[in-house]
Amino acid sequence: MPRPIHAFIHLDALTHNLARARRAASGAKVWAVVKANAYGHGLARVFSALRSADGFALLDLAEAETLRTLGWGGPILLLEGCFGADDLARCERLNLWHTVHDAAQINWLAARSKPRAHRVFAKLNTGMNRLGFAPEQYRAAWQRLAQLPAVGDVGHMTHFAHADVEGGDARARALFEQTVDGLPGERSLCNSAALLRHGEGATALGDWMRPGIMLYGGSPTGLQPDARAWGLRPAMSLCTRIIGVQQLPAGAVVGYGETFRTERAMRVGVAAVGYADGYPRHAPSGTPIVVDGVRTRIVGRVSMDMVGVDLDPVRAAGRAGDVGSPVLCWGRHGGAELPVDEVAEAAGTLGYELMCALAPRVPVQVA
Ligand SMILES: *Cc1c(COP(=O)(O)O)cnc(C)c1O
Repeated sequence: MPRPIHAFIHLDALTHNLARARRAASGAKVWAVVKANAYGHGLARVFSALRSADGFALLDLAEAETLRTLGWGGPILLLEGCFGADDLARCERLNLWHTVHDAAQINWLAARSKPRAHRVFAKLNTGMNRLGFAPEQYRAAWQRLAQLPAVGDVGHMTHFAHADVEGGDARARALFEQTVDGLPGERSLCNSAALLRHGEGATALGDWMRPGIMLYGGSPTGLQPDARAWGLRPAMSLCTRIIGVQQLPAGAVVGYGETFRTERAMRVGVAAVGYADGYPRHAPSGTPIVVDGVRTRIVGRVSMDMVGVDLDPVRAAGRAGDVGSPVLCWGRHGGAELPVDEVAEAAGTLGYELMCALAPRVPVQVA
């Protein structure tokens, strides 16, 4: 029997969440963001569920190539643009849209000769200070791009640093409006957080939305109640089983480093999941986990392949809590649900990181 861990990717949830994004976008076009192998879900796995998007946004030429191989003929956007002059020939061959955020990328485009072969978004830095032209350089960069023979339409893009906080992107929005004022070209501003926060008003915020995390049912704020409140469904579940049980007296320790000591006699199960599967090593004792449909907690330090779980609540609920009992680390399974954001919060990170960290050794089933 193979090790009993597996992940499920729920296509119905992806389809539901994309519809949710569409509703929020109220008529604007939607780039389904599928970078990082579709946030750990697998690009080829999510493709069929997300193919009603208007386009796909990602980072790697190899991932763009995969989408073309899967039969996607529509728009694909490279969110970080090209990494070298050589990439441009491949962009032409694969007919990719790309972001231009630096003068070096304009110089590479200036050396291309195929007329109007490149559709691009110029990127404005509205204060995040990651990628993008400074506001005082933006219009000159945009004009230079628009005049290049190899460049077709030139849109406008920015990325918010504070979209997950109410009103946090107001200054960035104003700066964007003021900087691109009067220039033609499509606009793209909103990630999941901005799209969900602005709701019906989002169309005022551009022609193309860029939802990522919401498609996978994660919360862009990192706050556990938000994903549910926004009507999102988890697209990934990580499931395993109990492979060992220890009946311990009071004062016993569990796991490496003696970080957990039993206060009374208790029954501890060992679940076959560890940090080599993508379960966060920093999850402390008390992090929620579901055994036999009953919510309980992990105990002791997460090791590479295993973690301890408190079986007393499981027994108290009249369930077996024995070797072979099913364990839900996050997601949904058999009527139980545990939001990935809740586990992430306990471990001091975000659902984004847990999903992206799902390890290659975990077998994945599409459900
Ligand atoms: C990742 C990314 C997104 C999607 O962000 P979410 O928070 O996952 O919705 C949008 N735009 C850019 C530029 C990105 O890099």
